[in-house]
Amino acid sequence: MRQKFTRFMSGRYGGDAFTRFLSIVYLVLIVISIFLPSGIRDLVYVAALAVILYTVYRMFSRKLAARRDENAKYLQAKQAFKDFFRLRRDMWNQRREFKFFKCPSCGAALRVPRGKGKIRIVCKRCGTGFERKT
Ligand SMILES: [Zn+2]
Repeated sequence: MRQKFTRFMSGRYGGDAFTRFLSIVYLVLIVISIFLPSGIRDLVYVAALAVILYTVYRMFSRKLAARRDENAKYLQAKQAFKDFFRLRRDMWNQRREFKFFKCPSCGAALRVPRGKGKIRIVCKRCGTGFERKT
């Protein structure tokens, strides 16, 4: 039985970080659906079913490159999500000592000490200079 399964799975994608994420989404949707009124419950249940079918499809898929790309995109989005909240947290914790600006050219977050008057800020990422009051 175990050998049969191993043979069946050979050349197939299997699981990855995106699989774990999708499984959690599925479980959350199922749990949420329990507490919803019947009309909406069916919709959420169908969504959960779609998520788990997609998850299983990915695991048995032989298109390894496509699945790896999906996982890479997922990891990228996860990192962007984390970075977004980390920056907000840092901005909040350091709000007394530092002022934060967004680079007008590349959008990078820049931190400068407060109370220095009008200063010229140079973006560390792209080198664009601009003046702001601190
Ligand atoms: Zn910049």
